[in-house]
Amino acid sequence: EFGSDSIVPVSVAAMKEYYKQFDPRSYLRYNYIPPRADFTRTDSIVPWKLSCLHRAFQEGDVHGRTLIDIGSGPTIYQLLSACEHFSNIIMTDFLEVNRQEIRRWLHGEPDTFDWTAFLQHACELEGKGCSWPEKAKRLRTAIHDVIPIDVHSPNPLHPYSLPELADCLVSSFCLEAVSPDRTSFQKALTNLGTLLKPNGHFLMIGALDESYYQVADGVHIPVVPVDQEFVSATLKSCGYEICTFQCYTLPQDMKVGVDDVAGIFFVKAKKK
Ligand code: SAM
Repeated sequence: EFGSDSIVPVSVAAMKEYYKQFDPRSYLRYNYIPPRADFTRTDSIVPWKLSCLHRAFQEGDVHGRTLIDIGSGPTIYQLLSACEHFSNIIMTDFLEVNRQEIRRWLHGEPDTFDWTAFLQHACELEGKGCSWPEKAKRLRTAIHDVIPIDVHSPNPLHPYSLPELADCLVSSFCLEAVSPDRTSFQKALTNLGTLLKPNGHFLMIGALDESYYQVADGVHIPVVPVDQEFVSATLKSCGYEICTFQCYTLPQDMKVGVDDVAGIFFVKAKKK
Protein backbone atom coordinates (compact mmCIF):
# COMPACT_ATOMS: atom_id res chain seq x y z
CA GLU A 1 0.00 0.00 0.00
CA PHE A 2 1.19 3.48 -0.87
CA GLY A 3 1.07 5.88 2.05
CA SER A 4 1.63 9.61 2.51
CA ASP A 5 4.73 8.85 4.56
CA SER A 6 6.42 6.67 1.94
CA ILE A 7 8.15 8.16 -1.09
CA VAL A 8 7.75 5.79 -4.00
CA PRO A 9 9.31 6.58 -7.36
CA VAL A 10 6.53 6.46 -9.91
CA SER A 11 6.22 6.37 -13.66
CA VAL A 12 3.30 6.71 -16.07
CA ALA A 13 3.21 2.91 -16.34
CA ALA A 14 3.14 2.55 -12.54
CA MET A 15 0.24 5.04 -12.32
CA LYS A 16 -1.75 2.96 -14.80
CA GLU A 17 -1.02 -0.13 -12.70
CA TYR A 18 -2.26 1.64 -9.55
CA TYR A 19 -5.55 2.51 -11.26
CA LYS A 20 -6.43 -1.18 -11.63
CA GLN A 21 -7.38 -0.95 -7.96
CA PHE A 22 -9.77 2.02 -8.36
CA ASP A 23 -13.21 1.17 -7.01
CA PRO A 24 -15.90 3.57 -8.32
CA ARG A 25 -18.37 2.94 -5.47
CA SER A 26 -15.76 3.50 -2.75
CA TYR A 27 -14.47 6.65 -4.46
CA LEU A 28 -18.01 8.05 -4.63
CA ARG A 29 -18.54 7.26 -0.95
CA TYR A 30 -15.27 8.95 0.08
CA ASN A 31 -15.89 12.18 -1.82
CA TYR A 32 -19.53 12.66 -2.75
CA ILE A 33 -21.46 12.41 0.53
CA PRO A 34 -21.51 14.89 3.46
CA PRO A 35 -19.48 16.64 4.74
CA ARG A 36 -17.77 16.99 1.32
CA ALA A 37 -21.13 17.17 -0.46
CA ASP A 38 -23.26 19.05 2.10
CA PHE A 39 -25.62 21.39 0.25
CA THR A 40 -26.68 23.19 3.43
CA ARG A 41 -23.14 24.65 3.66
CA THR A 42 -21.46 27.01 1.20
CA ASP A 43 -18.04 25.99 2.56
CA SER A 44 -18.52 22.34 1.61
CA ILE A 45 -16.38 21.11 -1.29
CA VAL A 46 -19.05 20.13 -3.81
CA PRO A 47 -21.20 23.31 -3.49
CA TRP A 48 -17.98 25.32 -3.99
CA LYS A 49 -17.15 23.39 -7.18
CA LEU A 50 -20.70 23.67 -8.53
CA SER A 51 -20.78 27.44 -8.01
CA CYS A 52 -17.42 27.88 -9.79
CA LEU A 53 -18.71 25.93 -12.79
CA HIS A 54 -22.04 27.75 -12.72
CA ARG A 55 -20.30 31.15 -12.71
CA ALA A 56 -17.91 30.16 -15.51
CA PHE A 57 -20.85 29.43 -17.82
CA GLN A 58 -22.91 32.41 -16.58
CA GLU A 59 -20.21 34.74 -17.90
CA GLY A 60 -21.54 33.90 -21.35
CA ASP A 61 -18.28 33.42 -23.23
CA VAL A 62 -18.17 29.61 -23.05
CA HIS A 63 -20.31 28.18 -25.79
CA GLY A 64 -20.34 25.98 -28.88
CA ARG A 65 -21.53 22.48 -29.64
CA THR A 66 -18.99 19.94 -28.42
CA LEU A 67 -17.66 19.66 -24.88
CA ILE A 68 -15.33 16.88 -23.72
CA ASP A 69 -15.07 15.95 -20.05
CA ILE A 70 -11.56 14.58 -19.39
CA GLY A 71 -11.21 11.73 -16.87
CA SER A 72 -14.88 11.76 -15.90
CA GLY A 73 -14.52 8.94 -13.39
CA PRO A 74 -17.85 7.67 -12.05
CA THR A 75 -19.23 11.23 -11.60
CA ILE A 76 -21.59 13.53 -13.49
CA TYR A 77 -21.76 16.63 -11.21
CA GLN A 78 -19.06 18.39 -13.26
CA LEU A 79 -21.48 18.62 -16.23
CA LEU A 80 -24.59 19.97 -14.50
CA SER A 81 -24.03 23.53 -15.73
CA ALA A 82 -22.35 22.52 -18.98
CA CYS A 83 -25.42 20.67 -20.25
CA GLU A 84 -27.35 23.96 -20.44
CA HIS A 85 -24.79 25.30 -22.94
CA PHE A 86 -23.52 22.29 -24.95
CA SER A 87 -25.65 19.85 -26.89
CA ASN A 88 -22.87 17.34 -27.64
CA ILE A 89 -21.06 16.24 -24.48
CA ILE A 90 -18.50 13.44 -24.57
CA MET A 91 -17.50 11.82 -21.29
CA THR A 92 -14.19 9.98 -21.05
CA ASP A 93 -12.29 7.75 -18.65
CA PHE A 94 -9.28 5.46 -18.63
CA LEU A 95 -11.15 2.72 -16.76
CA GLU A 96 -14.02 0.63 -18.08
CA VAL A 97 -15.44 0.29 -14.53
CA ASN A 98 -15.94 4.07 -14.44
CA ARG A 99 -17.39 4.25 -17.96
CA GLN A 100 -19.76 1.45 -16.96
CA GLU A 101 -20.86 3.33 -13.83
CA ILE A 102 -21.69 6.39 -15.97
CA ARG A 103 -23.56 4.33 -18.56
CA ARG A 104 -25.62 2.70 -15.84
CA TRP A 105 -26.69 6.16 -14.62
CA LEU A 106 -27.39 7.30 -18.19
CA HIS A 107 -29.67 4.32 -18.69
CA GLY A 108 -31.43 4.93 -15.36
CA GLU A 109 -30.47 1.53 -14.00
CA PRO A 110 -31.32 0.80 -10.35
CA ASP A 111 -28.69 1.00 -7.57
CA THR A 112 -26.61 3.71 -9.16
CA PHE A 113 -25.23 6.61 -7.11
CA ASP A 114 -27.95 9.06 -6.05
CA TRP A 115 -27.20 12.44 -7.69
CA THR A 116 -30.55 14.00 -6.71
CA ALA A 117 -29.17 16.58 -4.25
CA PHE A 118 -26.52 17.62 -6.80
CA LEU A 119 -29.16 18.03 -9.52
CA GLN A 120 -31.37 20.04 -7.17
CA HIS A 121 -28.50 22.29 -6.16
CA ALA A 122 -27.58 23.00 -9.79
CA CYS A 123 -31.24 23.92 -10.49
CA GLU A 124 -31.20 26.31 -7.52
CA LEU A 125 -28.02 28.00 -8.75
CA GLU A 126 -29.65 28.59 -12.13
CA GLY A 127 -32.81 29.92 -10.51
CA LYS A 128 -34.96 29.18 -13.54
CA GLY A 129 -37.36 26.87 -11.74
CA CYS A 130 -36.05 23.77 -13.50
CA SER A 131 -36.93 20.60 -11.57
CA TRP A 132 -34.25 18.00 -10.81
CA PRO A 133 -35.80 15.28 -13.01
CA GLU A 134 -35.85 17.77 -15.91
CA LYS A 135 -32.20 18.55 -15.20
CA ALA A 136 -31.32 14.85 -15.21
CA LYS A 137 -33.11 14.48 -18.52
CA ARG A 138 -31.27 17.45 -20.05
CA LEU A 139 -27.93 16.04 -18.96
CA ARG A 140 -28.71 12.54 -20.24
CA THR A 141 -29.81 14.01 -23.58
CA ALA A 142 -26.65 16.13 -23.91
CA ILE A 143 -24.23 13.25 -23.24
CA HIS A 144 -23.59 11.56 -26.56
CA ASP A 145 -20.81 9.16 -25.69
CA VAL A 146 -18.70 7.68 -22.91
CA ILE A 147 -15.34 6.69 -24.34
CA PRO A 148 -11.82 5.58 -23.31
CA ILE A 149 -9.06 8.13 -22.85
CA ASP A 150 -5.38 8.17 -21.94
CA VAL A 151 -4.12 11.68 -21.27
CA HIS A 152 -0.54 10.39 -21.53
CA SER A 153 -1.02 9.47 -25.17
CA PRO A 154 -0.26 12.09 -27.86
CA ASN A 155 -3.63 11.10 -29.32
CA PRO A 156 -5.64 10.79 -26.05
CA LEU A 157 -8.89 9.49 -27.57
CA HIS A 158 -7.32 6.93 -29.94
CA PRO A 159 -8.88 4.98 -31.66
CA TYR A 160 -11.96 7.23 -31.46
CA SER A 161 -12.07 9.77 -34.25
CA LEU A 162 -13.52 13.04 -33.12
CA PRO A 163 -15.88 14.44 -35.80
CA GLU A 164 -14.86 17.97 -34.78
CA LEU A 165 -12.57 19.53 -32.23
CA ALA A 166 -14.12 20.54 -28.93
CA ASP A 167 -15.28 24.07 -28.11
CA CYS A 168 -14.67 23.36 -24.44
CA LEU A 169 -12.81 20.91 -22.22
CA VAL A 170 -13.80 20.23 -18.61
CA SER A 171 -11.62 18.22 -16.26
CA SER A 172 -11.89 17.63 -12.54
CA PHE A 173 -9.19 16.00 -10.41
CA CYS A 174 -7.63 14.21 -13.34
CA LEU A 175 -4.19 15.48 -14.40
CA GLU A 176 -2.58 15.69 -10.93
CA ALA A 177 -4.12 12.34 -9.98
CA VAL A 178 -2.82 10.42 -12.99
CA SER A 179 0.60 12.02 -13.53
CA PRO A 180 3.68 10.75 -11.71
CA ASP A 181 5.37 14.17 -11.82
CA ARG A 182 5.04 17.75 -13.04
CA THR A 183 6.70 16.98 -16.37
CA SER A 184 4.09 14.39 -17.27
CA PHE A 185 1.29 16.71 -16.04
CA GLN A 186 2.55 19.30 -18.52
CA LYS A 187 2.86 16.72 -21.30
CA ALA A 188 -0.68 15.50 -20.62
CA LEU A 189 -1.95 19.08 -20.86
CA THR A 190 -0.16 19.41 -24.20
CA ASN A 191 -1.80 16.19 -25.41
CA LEU A 192 -5.25 17.49 -24.42
CA GLY A 193 -4.63 20.72 -26.32
CA THR A 194 -4.93 18.74 -29.58
CA LEU A 195 -8.63 18.14 -28.78
CA LEU A 196 -9.57 21.81 -28.40
CA LYS A 197 -10.35 24.47 -31.01
CA PRO A 198 -8.42 27.75 -30.95
CA ASN A 199 -10.38 30.20 -28.74
CA GLY A 200 -11.95 27.22 -26.93
CA HIS A 201 -12.08 27.13 -23.15
CA PHE A 202 -10.59 24.73 -20.61
CA LEU A 203 -12.37 24.58 -17.24
CA MET A 204 -10.17 22.68 -14.83
CA ILE A 205 -10.75 21.73 -11.22
CA GLY A 206 -8.01 20.06 -9.23
CA ALA A 207 -6.41 19.28 -5.91
CA LEU A 208 -3.87 21.65 -4.34
CA ASP A 209 -0.81 20.27 -2.55
CA GLU A 210 -2.08 16.71 -2.50
CA SER A 211 0.35 13.78 -2.38
CA TYR A 212 -2.01 10.79 -2.25
CA TYR A 213 -5.68 9.79 -2.27
CA GLN A 214 -7.65 6.69 -1.49
CA VAL A 215 -9.19 4.75 -4.40
CA ALA A 216 -10.49 1.71 -2.52
CA ASP A 217 -10.51 0.63 1.12
CA GLY A 218 -6.86 0.52 2.19
CA VAL A 219 -5.50 1.55 -1.23
CA HIS A 220 -3.74 4.89 -1.72
CA ILE A 221 -2.53 6.29 -5.04
CA PRO A 222 0.22 8.93 -5.35
CA VAL A 223 -0.75 12.39 -6.61
CA VAL A 224 1.66 15.01 -7.93
CA PRO A 225 1.41 18.01 -5.57
CA VAL A 226 0.61 21.19 -7.52
CA ASP A 227 -0.01 24.82 -6.60
CA GLN A 228 -1.59 27.83 -8.30
CA GLU A 229 1.73 29.05 -9.65
CA PHE A 230 2.53 25.74 -11.35
CA VAL A 231 -0.97 25.23 -12.82
CA SER A 232 -1.07 28.80 -14.17
CA ALA A 233 2.42 28.65 -15.62
CA THR A 234 1.75 25.26 -17.23
CA LEU A 235 -1.48 26.44 -18.83
CA LYS A 236 0.30 29.54 -20.18
CA SER A 237 3.19 27.43 -21.53
CA CYS A 238 0.61 25.30 -23.37
CA GLY A 239 -0.85 28.37 -25.09
CA TYR A 240 -3.72 29.32 -22.78
CA GLU A 241 -4.59 32.65 -21.29
CA ILE A 242 -5.99 32.53 -17.75
CA CYS A 243 -9.49 34.05 -17.46
CA THR A 244 -10.12 33.28 -13.76
CA PHE A 245 -8.27 31.33 -11.08
CA GLN A 246 -10.00 30.59 -7.78
CA CYS A 247 -8.71 28.69 -4.77
CA TYR A 248 -10.53 27.07 -1.88
CA THR A 249 -8.93 25.99 1.39
CA LEU A 250 -10.33 22.84 2.96
CA PRO A 251 -12.06 23.47 6.30
CA GLN A 252 -10.69 21.15 8.99
CA ASP A 253 -13.81 18.97 9.10
CA MET A 254 -13.60 18.20 5.34
CA LYS A 255 -10.38 16.31 6.07
CA VAL A 256 -12.01 12.93 6.37
CA GLY A 257 -8.93 10.72 6.06
CA VAL A 258 -9.20 9.71 2.39
CA ASP A 259 -6.46 12.03 1.08
CA ASP A 260 -4.14 14.83 2.19
CA VAL A 261 -5.60 17.53 -0.08
CA ALA A 262 -5.04 21.06 1.26
CA GLY A 263 -7.34 22.91 -1.09
CA ILE A 264 -8.97 22.98 -4.50
CA PHE A 265 -8.42 25.18 -7.52
CA PHE A 266 -10.77 26.17 -10.30
CA VAL A 267 -9.34 27.69 -13.45
CA LYS A 268 -11.05 29.01 -16.55
CA ALA A 269 -8.53 29.29 -19.37
CA LYS A 270 -8.84 30.19 -23.04
CA LYS A 271 -6.74 28.64 -25.81
CA LYS A 272 -5.08 31.33 -27.89
N1 SAM B 1 -13.61 13.55 -12.60
C1 SAM B 1 -13.98 12.72 -11.46
C2 SAM B 1 -14.23 13.58 -10.24
O1 SAM B 1 -14.30 14.81 -10.39
O2 SAM B 1 -14.39 13.06 -9.14
C3 SAM B 1 -12.97 11.61 -11.20
C4 SAM B 1 -11.57 12.04 -10.84
S1 SAM B 1 -10.54 10.69 -10.29
C5 SAM B 1 -9.64 11.50 -9.02
C6 SAM B 1 -9.30 10.52 -11.56
C7 SAM B 1 -9.81 9.81 -12.79
O3 SAM B 1 -8.77 9.74 -13.79
C8 SAM B 1 -10.25 8.39 -12.54
O4 SAM B 1 -11.57 8.24 -12.97
C9 SAM B 1 -9.30 7.55 -13.37
O5 SAM B 1 -9.86 6.36 -13.88
C10 SAM B 1 -8.90 8.51 -14.46
N2 SAM B 1 -7.61 8.15 -15.09
C11 SAM B 1 -6.65 7.31 -14.65
N3 SAM B 1 -5.63 7.24 -15.51
C12 SAM B 1 -5.95 8.04 -16.56
C13 SAM B 1 -5.31 8.36 -17.78
N4 SAM B 1 -4.10 7.86 -18.10
N5 SAM B 1 -5.94 9.21 -18.63
C14 SAM B 1 -7.14 9.74 -18.30
N6 SAM B 1 -7.80 9.47 -17.16
C15 SAM B 1 -7.21 8.63 -16.29
